[in-house]
Amino acid sequence: MGDNMKKSIWQKDNNIKEEKGITENLTTDVLIIGAGMTGISLAYNLIDGKNNIIMVDAGKIADATTAKSTGKVTYLQDLTYYKICNVYDFDTAKLYYESQKEAIRIINRNVKNNKIECDLKKCEMVTFTNDEKEVPKFTVEKLILDRLGVKYSNVSKNIKNNDVKELISVNDGYVFNPVKYLIGLYKKIRSSSNVDVYMNSRVQKVQKTKEGFKAYVNGFEIKCKKIVFACHYPFFTIPGFIPLKTYVEKSYIAASKVEKTSNVAAITSNYPYVSFRYQENKKEKYFIYLNNSSKLCSKLNHEKNYEECTDEIKKITGTSPTYKWENMDLLTNDYLPLIGRVSKDEKNAFIATGYNTWGMTGGTIAGKIIADLINSKDNKYLEVFNPSRSMNFKKVLNFTNNTLLSNLKAYGFNFIKKNPSWYKNQAFVTRYCGKRVGVYYDEEGKEHVVSNVCPHLKCFLTFNKVDKTWDCPCHGSRFDTEGNVVKGPSSFDIKIDETKL
Ligand SMILES: Cc1cc2nc3c(=O)[nH]c(=O)nc-3n(C[C@H](O)[C@H](O)[C@H](O)COP(=O)(O)OP(=O)(O)OC[C@H]3O[C@@H](n4cnc5c(N)ncnc54)[C@H](O)[C@@H]3O)c2cc1C
Repeated sequence: MGDNMKKSIWQKDNNIKEEKGITENLTTDVLIIGAGMTGISLAYNLIDGKNNIIMVDAGKIADATTAKSTGKVTYLQDLTYYKICNVYDFDTAKLYYESQKEAIRIINRNVKNNKIECDLKKCEMVTFTNDEKEVPKFTVEKLILDRLGVKYSNVSKNIKNNDVKELISVNDGYVFNPVKYLIGLYKKIRSSSNVDVYMNSRVQKVQKTKEGFKAYVNGFEIKCKKIVFACHYPFFTIPGFIPLKTYVEKSYIAASKVEKTSNVAAITSNYPYVSFRYQENKKEKYFIYLNNSSKLCSKLNHEKNYEECTDEIKKITGTSPTYKWENMDLLTNDYLPLIGRVSKDEKNAFIATGYNTWGMTGGTIAGKIIADLINSKDNKYLEVFNPSRSMNFKKVLNFTNNTLLSNLKAYGFNFIKKNPSWYKNQAFVTRYCGKRVGVYYDEEGKEHVVSNVCPHLKCFLTFNKVDKTWDCPCHGSRFDTEGNVVKGPSSFDIKIDETKL
């Protein structure tokens, strides 16, 4: 399933072979859906506790968004504090800062206590811009950093470029290999007596029961008292209304071998984001480069985006990339993650998502917050990250610009234009027996017919020629040419029974 999707530099280090899936009805205290940064951080915090835990993943553990990130562990996150203050106030920005610092401490402690060899390395972390218009935002970000007591510099030891108009540099950022880190935690989880992990088990539906919840997986049921949606983009809309609170951003990444590394990681402050870092272990040295970030609906030319990323990294390093991949994350309209109870009335269903592309720290702190909720402990971030927090004017404005417009654009493209160029070469969309179907002709000329309607929120799917997948331009679900779902939020396939057409 999904073998066409390009693998990241980290995914090769995922040596977990075990393929145990759900093959019977089960009962547990807590069900965690998703084994990425969020799910694994949470499960780790719950080991040897009083609850029995089941963690399920639709695929392999640590093989999705986290495994395709750039693995920066940092509290300097482009101009996050400026953005948060713009929507809320300094106290909110301070709480966010404290949460990210706490997450960095947790990651360092976990690595040390479990002797995890994940190439965790302290480095200079930089936000910079080549755009004169961005400069005033840097002034405000620096004022906020001053109030937070952060020691930063206006110059970089490693980035000396005449085009740079402004920069902020701190010397206590980190980079690591996210897959090796999660596998290190996973090994500890597996050796505990109260956590059971299942792979290749996609939860399709969850129902509320008198005792708690019932999750439907692989044709079986898991009954639980408490449930955690650690599945990145949740597969349901109600409760929580996550599609209304978020939008999806996609980027293209490449990694090339280099002779020498610099101890720096950096990101630009505005679209189209450029981000880079180095990766070094005993065997290899790489330069990792990200560009072409965009809201999901706005760029669908995967070939061109991959090409541009390859060209850029070649210009910088002089070598063709060994790895090329793409990744998507959920962004919120107020720049704060959504971590806590799925809805106000729901005491025992939890969610953690919307990390605004900073999920190494976001997922780590979510693991702590949700463990505290499960264990009925207080946590100082409950209010600030509450997924049901109220709207304010700035949030509504951002909702219009980000969520509403990007969804309308994606839906609009689909419904109004039906642009045939999206489907040229091997794939096209047509109507067959009254149904909208996607048809793909493989290299041998064999026809593969699937439904062209995403089961999640009924968006029409577009063909991704690079990965040979059918992709949802609204919320990011992806399906292979046989119609198997390879990435949520959809929890259903798009296969069609041709005999019933
Ligand atoms: C290009 C890019 C670069 C990034 N770089 C960084 C960075 O340098 N630093 C940083 O802090 N953050 C970074 N991020 C953000 C970060 O990668 C994400 O926020 C984070 O990985 C999300 O973790 P997660 O556990 O929520 O999701 P995932 O890692 O996707 O884990 C969710 C798991 O749930 C499973 N799942 C989904 N649906 C179901 C279902 N129905 N049933 C069962 N299982 C299911 C999936 O298979 C998956 O394994 C980046 C994001 C992008 C897009």
